[in-house]
Amino acid sequence: MGLAAGYYLTESGQTVAMVDAFDPPHEAGSHHGKTRLIRHAYGEGSSYVPLALHAQKLWEELDEKTEVPIFVKTGVLNFGPKGNKFLDTVEKSAREYQLPLQVMTAEEINHRWPGFQLSEGLIGYFEKNSGVLFSENIIRTYRTLAEKNGADLYTNSHVQSIEAKKDQVIVKLENEELVGKKLLITAGKGTNQVTNLLNVTLPITPVRKTFSWFSSTEPSLYKEGTFPGWGYIGKESTYYGFPDMDGKGLKIGRHDGGRPIDNSGELALFGTYPEDEQETLDFAREHFSKDIVMEEGRVCTYTNTPDEDFIIDYLPGYTNVMVACGFSGHGFKFASGIGESLANLLMNKEPAVSLKSFRLRRFGVS
Ligand SMILES: Cc1cc2nc3c(=O)[nH]c(=O)nc-3n(C[C@H](O)[C@H](O)[C@H](O)COP(=O)(O)OP(=O)(O)OC[C@H]3O[C@@H](n4cnc5c(N)ncnc54)[C@H](O)[C@@H]3O)c2cc1C
Repeated sequence: MGLAAGYYLTESGQTVAMVDAFDPPHEAGSHHGKTRLIRHAYGEGSSYVPLALHAQKLWEELDEKTEVPIFVKTGVLNFGPKGNKFLDTVEKSAREYQLPLQVMTAEEINHRWPGFQLSEGLIGYFEKNSGVLFSENIIRTYRTLAEKNGADLYTNSHVQSIEAKKDQVIVKLENEELVGKKLLITAGKGTNQVTNLLNVTLPITPVRKTFSWFSSTEPSLYKEGTFPGWGYIGKESTYYGFPDMDGKGLKIGRHDGGRPIDNSGELALFGTYPEDEQETLDFAREHFSKDIVMEEGRVCTYTNTPDEDFIIDYLPGYTNVMVACGFSGHGFKFASGIGESLANLLMNKEPAVSLKSFRLRRFGVS
């Protein structure tokens, strides 16, 4: 989010300094593992659709500016038991915004993509215009373009103090002092470490998540071009996944659950807990193919808010410090649109899509 905002600010000729505790892209935040899904007919709420569509347009513009892949239109299938609130909202979102959406029975899904083995009674909604974003390529591209436009990036740097005066913000790093008119805090799971320097704590909980790559004896069934991106919304669990995009295999992660991370921010290695391997393996063997084998797993972080909607607002008590955090495991697809809108807000311009629903006042904080 920070690199996207930094890129759009430099495109508008602003002077930008960016600070990161690591060297992005890296494995200590929420963006690694190469790929992220973008869906338009949004199950989390139809109010997200304008942002998703605007973000999609910006991803396609970014794709034009670089040699590396940014977006691939794999299509995305959301499936699960009938009578499910999320799937009903997918359908409502598509209706409200006239998005192409195909309703499919389990039999039709298994026939069209033989890599699926869905049981009778499940229903699917296929969005042909959605697909997969290459998250690490995107981060590298924003970083390169922002630096080319003149942004300074301080990597492996830790904020020691922040002083926010009426029309000036001073950020002290180990060996630098940065002085600017405005500050945007987009530190993912580390956001409260930074806002605590201004005596503000936000309602966010970092959660340890896992994802894994799987192989099968019929790899051609799961290749990009043959198999879609997908999301499963069950009664007690939610999963998502990607076709084999780079020969590493089918990628699957569990969306709900996970273990809250303590203050150290340290993530226990993949395989530390029995559920790391078992949950996705059981899911894959039930819904895909019985011969599926796990090849590799990784850990990652969701930074959740209490309602899983985002936090984008001025920090309480400050008119020149903005925060964007709490992307709750579904924020990446919007990063282009949010980055552009954050840049506009910081320049006192109207954003293309309103971000007002993400204000802090819904948690009684303002
Ligand atoms: C496994 C997994 C799968 C996901 N799948 C999807 C998906 O399919 N579709 C989707 O839309 N979203 C998905 N998401 C969610 C999405 O990736 C996140 O919402 C998004 O990356 C959040 O962006 P961010 O900029 O807030 O956080 P990050 O990308 O983590 O960036 C925060 C940056 O802040 C830096 N930082 C942290 N602390 C400090 C500090 N104290 N000082 C300075 N810098 C600091 C970090 O080093 C990091 O570079 C997924 C997330 C995970 C973990």
